[in-house]
Amino acid sequence: MRGLIGKRVLVSGGSSGIGLAAARRFLEEGCRVFVGGLDAAEVRQAVTELRPYGEVSGFAADVSLVEGANALVDAAAEALGCIDVLANNAGIAWREPFLEITPEHFDRMLAVNLRGMFLVAQAVGRHMIGRGGGAIVNMSSTNGIAGEEDYAHYNASKGGVLLLGKTMAVELGRYGIRVNTLCPGYIRTPLNASIAGAMTDGEFEASHVADRIPLGRAGLAEEVAAAYAFLASEDAAFVHGAELVVDGGQLAVM
Ligand code: NAP
Repeated sequence: MRGLIGKRVLVSGGSSGIGLAAARRFLEEGCRVFVGGLDAAEVRQAVTELRPYGEVSGFAADVSLVEGANALVDAAAEALGCIDVLANNAGIAWREPFLEITPEHFDRMLAVNLRGMFLVAQAVGRHMIGRGGGAIVNMSSTNGIAGEEDYAHYNASKGGVLLLGKTMAVELGRYGIRVNTLCPGYIRTPLNASIAGAMTDGEFEASHVADRIPLGRAGLAEEVAAAYAFLASEDAAFVHGAELVVDGGQLAVM
């Protein structure tokens, strides 16, 4: 990808799954990377795993809290010198029928997936304005575009992320900050392994996933990481306010 060498990248939720793969991809592209995560041991483990690929450090904080989001962005800015790229990736998901979702569960889903994304993006946006621009990629989902059964709270949070990103693009373009949104479909990660419950990844994908995806398989975290790298790069210099679907054709099915 053009224009990524030397860029300083914050990957929230960079200690696992898609975020971990994105952190590695940015390192391989010649970037310096700072990873966030909720659990300090997970973040330490990720930094150790990523170190062979380049210059990386990390910090654990809860992005759903104002103090947590600000502490993460401050720590990244201090470690990297500044932030050129934000992969705004941290998120949670679990299955629950609409009629059984408690207000507390609804609030937690929205707090991490929508409020957390807003808090980190706002802190980074303010930082980027001070230094003349940057690129922000927010993580939504195909679930932000279509309603999957048993995910009402998750779908609502990811739908919110889509319009948060479009509005950020409208307001931040004038500062040289490009804002785009990623919408992956079913990607094989620890998050989905937890949703698969007692089934193996393979069993769950065969029974719940493969027949809904024209390419006939789940996606890989590395395939979403490539989309992060593209949207952050100079190759996407005129891509702004867009959503990029990475779903093996799932949303193309009627
Ligand atoms: P994952 O493996 O569970 O990784 C989630 C990451 O977010 C971890 O680093 C986790 O940190 C962090 N995180 C969770 N809650 C946090 C909080 N309150 N504060 C700070 N960090 C927090 O999940 P994934 O599948 O890679 O998902 C990454 C993103 O992609 C999410 O936004 C998800 O909604 C989105 N997505 C995933 C899929 C998919 O099929 N997997 C599809 C579409 C979109 P800890 O490990 O310390 O908890």
